[in-house]
Amino acid sequence: MKLTEHFTLDEFTHSTIASRLKIDNSVPAELVPNIQLTAIKLELVRKALGKPIIITSGYRCPALNTRVGGVSTSAHTKGLAVDFHCAYGNPKEICQRLIDAGVQFDKLIQEHNQWVHIGLVRAITVK
Ligand SMILES: [Zn+2]
Repeated sequence: MKLTEHFTLDEFTHSTIASRLKIDNSVPAELVPNIQLTAIKLELVRKALGKPIIITSGYRCPALNTRVGGVSTSAHTKGLAVDFHCAYGNPKEICQRLIDAGVQFDKLIQEHNQWVHIGLVRAITVK
């Protein structure tokens, strides 16, 4: 399912850990609108960086979230956060660029200098 010009629902649900552990990480229908909004927001992130974004973790069902050690309130479980990397640069450079470009977010974290976590809870309306 295509969400926006550059993002599909599959990119948000794909998880090698979930596949390996046979965890069903499909998105409940009521959370699809959140993911659509996150994808729209990610288009702005992509535009600011000028290069494709590789999502390493998008939506996480509660079972998967527990398994990867996420906190129970993680925005990933609502479809409102994404971990990604991008050929633009390292996580620090990506974070700085997003700040300079004025991209709105709730949380922006450079995780272990390996990927960027962006949370969009406050940036958009959540039911
Ligand atoms: Zn994250």
